[in-house]
Amino acid sequence: MVRPIEGEGTPEQTWREWPAMAEWPVLPLDAAEPPLIVAPHPDDEILGVAGLMAMLDRAELVAVTDGEASHPHSTVHTQAELAAIRRDETAEALRRLGLGDAPVRRLGQPDGKIDEDALAEALTERLAPGRWCLATWREDGHPDHEAVGRAAARACEVTGAVLLEYPIWTWHWASPGDTRVPWHRAHRIELTPAAQQAKAAAIDAFPSQIAPLGPEPGDAAILPPHVLARFARPFEVVLR
Ligand SMILES: [Zn+2]
Repeated sequence: MVRPIEGEGTPEQTWREWPAMAEWPVLPLDAAEPPLIVAPHPDDEILGVAGLMAMLDRAELVAVTDGEASHPHSTVHTQAELAAIRRDETAEALRRLGLGDAPVRRLGQPDGKIDEDALAEALTERLAPGRWCLATWREDGHPDHEAVGRAAARACEVTGAVLLEYPIWTWHWASPGDTRVPWHRAHRIELTPAAQQAKAAAIDAFPSQIAPLGPEPGDAAILPPHVLARFARPFEVVLR
């Protein structure tokens, strides 16, 4: 269900103080082939599962949109410029994860208007029984994230691939124990210190999102420090 992403959201400290998180089962990293990582916007894959990608040391990325609508009121960049900037940022982030050679399939769908059927078809072509497919959670609260989650769920059902959903904005609008979240599906991915470092470096490869483009309100950072804090944990979480 689409939910407004507003205010400061749940502080990371509140999540860290929730004992249940430590009890979630650890996801066995037994992927037989490179996982298919699906990103609604450039940076979602890095925030959600960069540590996993670094530890598996292989991945194939499906970039659904170029994220051109991140700053609709920017006085600094046009949408075309933002799309180009964000594509380059993804490439740099992958290099910092040691995945500079990883295949990237750019679908170039419009940011904010994802064609779910076309996406499900594109994912179905690439998936096979048992292959991991990582996608934003179907109920993450952002329309594009939810469309990606639903399309991935369909493609996994058709192909027998393993669906692993990663929350992004859930950490903002939900709170510990929130009954709207299927916590019983949560699994932890424990990051090695090297994977944590690589993830932090990869997040820094997105200056268009983590820093203001300029002084005007329409150029404010999309991912200010209180949001980034949620992605600096020594573990990642997927819903299986
Ligand atoms: Zn996103």
